[in-house]
Amino acid sequence: MALHLGTPVTALPGVGSETAKDLKTLDVASVRDLLFYFPFRYDDYSRALPIASLRHDVTATVTGKVTSIASRPSKNKRLTITEAMVEDESGSIKVMWFNQPYLAKTLREGTRVSLAGRVDAKFGGRTLVNPVWEPEGARTHTGRLVPVYSLTRSLTARRLRAAIKAALPATVEFEEWLPREIVSSVGFPSYPQAIADIHFPESGEALAAAVNRLKFDELFLHQLQYADVRRQVAKRDARRIAVDEDQLKTFVKTLPFALTPGQRRAAWEIVKDMANAHPMNRLLQGDVGSGKTAVAAIAASSALNAGFGVAYLAPTEILALQQHAAFCRFFPASPVALFTGAQCLVREAPVSRDELFQAIRAGDVRCVVGTHALFQGGVDLPDMGFVVVDEQHRFGVEQRRALLDSDPAPHLLSMTATPIPRSLALTLYGDLELSIIQDRPKGRKPIATFLAKGRDRKAVWEKVREEVAAGRQAYVVCPLIEESDRSGAKSVEEMAKSLSKGDLLGLRIGILHGKLSSDDKAEAIDLFRAGQIDVLVATTVVEVGVDVPNATVIAIAGAERFGLAQLHQLRGRVGRSDMQSWCFLLPDDLTKAGEARLRAMVESDDGFALAEKDLELRGAGNLFGNAQSGFPDFKLATLADVDLMKTARDHAARVLENDPELARHPGLKEKVKASFDRVHLE
Ligand code: ADP
Ligand code: MG
Repeated sequence: MALHLGTPVTALPGVGSETAKDLKTLDVASVRDLLFYFPFRYDDYSRALPIASLRHDVTATVTGKVTSIASRPSKNKRLTITEAMVEDESGSIKVMWFNQPYLAKTLREGTRVSLAGRVDAKFGGRTLVNPVWEPEGARTHTGRLVPVYSLTRSLTARRLRAAIKAALPATVEFEEWLPREIVSSVGFPSYPQAIADIHFPESGEALAAAVNRLKFDELFLHQLQYADVRRQVAKRDARRIAVDEDQLKTFVKTLPFALTPGQRRAAWEIVKDMANAHPMNRLLQGDVGSGKTAVAAIAASSALNAGFGVAYLAPTEILALQQHAAFCRFFPASPVALFTGAQCLVREAPVSRDELFQAIRAGDVRCVVGTHALFQGGVDLPDMGFVVVDEQHRFGVEQRRALLDSDPAPHLLSMTATPIPRSLALTLYGDLELSIIQDRPKGRKPIATFLAKGRDRKAVWEKVREEVAAGRQAYVVCPLIEESDRSGAKSVEEMAKSLSKGDLLGLRIGILHGKLSSDDKAEAIDLFRAGQIDVLVATTVVEVGVDVPNATVIAIAGAERFGLAQLHQLRGRVGRSDMQSWCFLLPDDLTKAGEARLRAMVESDDGFALAEKDLELRGAGNLFGNAQSGFPDFKLATLADVDLMKTARDHAARVLENDPELARHPGLKEKVKASFDRVHLE
């Protein structure tokens, strides 16, 4: 059967109905989808060595003949050990596999194999331990840069890799979409070549070229998208919200604090923008704790006062609850509603979805705080004048465009704590106007940050006890260590148990992780907020936005596993009042690079400085490499790709200058349109 991009994956060798089901959970159904499922790293097995030259700690591929093979239980019977001897012309080596007893049947004596892995001397002489194997010279799993993909359910690395290799011939059907002059002037590989090479590159150079090309594609397409959104915004009508200075002054007076100059300026820029006849599309950027919520509330007060509806989107249920509570305080007389997948409230009163919809239709409820379920669930605010997207983790240019695609369109305010230098922001958030809060509320003391190794931990728990005795509260954050514990349930429960029996005996300890029901999550946060829990042991679900000003200590276990941007966000959970706060970084296993990263945290309190340090320390850092980054637009490109961003921006500007509607570039026009078409508001 001929292989095409549209062919279902089940046509590939080794992909049965079970594998197809596994792939489905990764949104992979066709050969095309599969080819867009990129590796996240590579094992370098490209070094082929004669067996005689293998030394301890060398990683390589060897090819030879199996001369003996047998499986046996280990001494304590907990493992099965398969031991083989493999020889080539130069010599022979012992090979060991753990818990793969079937290998003794698959790799019989006399079979010629390629093996890739690391040599270890600790098993009595040189041993190749748990190597990947395949028939001699197959070059799918050995003998090259081998792609490593994230897996799911019962899907194995081997099966996925083999399926993708089998799909490679279909790459020729991908059409070049970049203008030819760009491909040749930058010297990129063709699009089909780049897709093939990101999976199975023949060399490090080929890989680098492929990655570079695909990053450029992403960045260039985004520049075109930004331009498209700007054009759309200029064409759309908005609900004008006249600036009412008296109303604003009165509202600001009701706040429990005086605004910082940064908040004041940002709020002013926003309300002025909302008085325009075209929709606002603005980003409010401010470091953690800079008080973005209050700024959003000021703008919301202006929209509500003018008779318009307001929607506030939070990235998680926990934050929706918290920001709903905050808005209830900001608007004490107003029926502020909450809408999440799990519950609806009008102020504190639980209501059914239907009741809420009715109240919205009747115009009784005009301000709704919720998760993305808000748009999915069909909440339709009449006269929606203002939408806030807080911590815009899953809200990129495509979502923004969808939201602005109504007539009249609402004014849109995105908010983020992701620190990006202004010069870069113009390139990265090209469709957005920018407001920045540079300062922090008065009286905030720098958070005292310490690296606590080994024995210092005792002192950390002492400090926690001391703060709790003084009426304060603490977070303990646990990393996800095992692949099988994605919700973090296990690591949180183990930590909570050991602390409650040991160092924090007698304190009221609560837990928060991904496996809890939404009720239990809400309860944990509520109890913590109400001061009925002293110590909250949690995963990074508390990373973004959680605001409990009475918490003054955060201890981060396995701190070396987190990136600097993430640590900075976590640290921002404390220092939210004028009380002195502490952040303790508790590493499990510290490399030199890890230590340098944690030292940077100790030395700097400034999100911008840390973002730059992260780049410096990690090179092509993964500041934006995951969904938690606060930067939703790019899958491959990172902040480190500044030069490529500029190149993409320049090329896009050149194309758009002569052809703003892309009328003479139908291929590009189609690509931009398709990128927007497939988007749904989550
Ligand atoms: P973020 O910008 O990280 O979203 P928040 O809006 O959650 O920050 O504000 C952090 C904390 O600071 C909140 O408890 C908020 O009530 C408080 N806050 C905001 N603005 C001020 C201010 N001008 N003075 C004092 N406290 C403030
Ligand atoms: Mg916030």
